[in-house]
Amino acid sequence: MVGQFYDEARGFPKFVPNKRQKKELLEFFDHQCCYCGRLISVETLSQDHLIPMNKDHLGLHAWGNVVPCCKDCNNAKQHSGWLKFLATQAKGKTLDDRENKILTFVENRRYDPNLQLSDYAGNLYADVGEVAMTLIQLRYKQAEEAITQLLANDLGIQNDG
Ligand SMILES: [Zn+2]
Repeated sequence: MVGQFYDEARGFPKFVPNKRQKKELLEFFDHQCCYCGRLISVETLSQDHLIPMNKDHLGLHAWGNVVPCCKDCNNAKQHSGWLKFLATQAKGKTLDDRENKILTFVENRRYDPNLQLSDYAGNLYADVGEVAMTLIQLRYKQAEEAITQLLANDLGIQNDG
């Protein structure tokens, strides 16, 4: 996993998060949802990836990219950018404070928001696409052979009958 590699390269233990790591996250964020400020616990926290983990954004499951939030915020945020979503949950000084808290966290964990993984991942997705197509074609071929065999058997039975 790239995330684990990135954690270890920065001198952190792999981000799971286990219970201890969840506590660490909660302590940093004062036991509050980083977006709406609702109190959350190890049991109720949801993990949000600031930079989403998809082929367009390529965020990592690693220290500095995962923040604690409540389940409602996690569901509501969906694919919107975290700052845009934060602005729907807080205003004025509260908004500034929460934005700073998140930015401090990212900086503190030395997560580089400009990691240019897309140069590599772009190729990766193309490669996976090719492999997937090869596998699909192989399955089709196997299915075709199986069907051909079944038809031949059917014909054989009909011929016998
Ligand atoms: Zn929330």
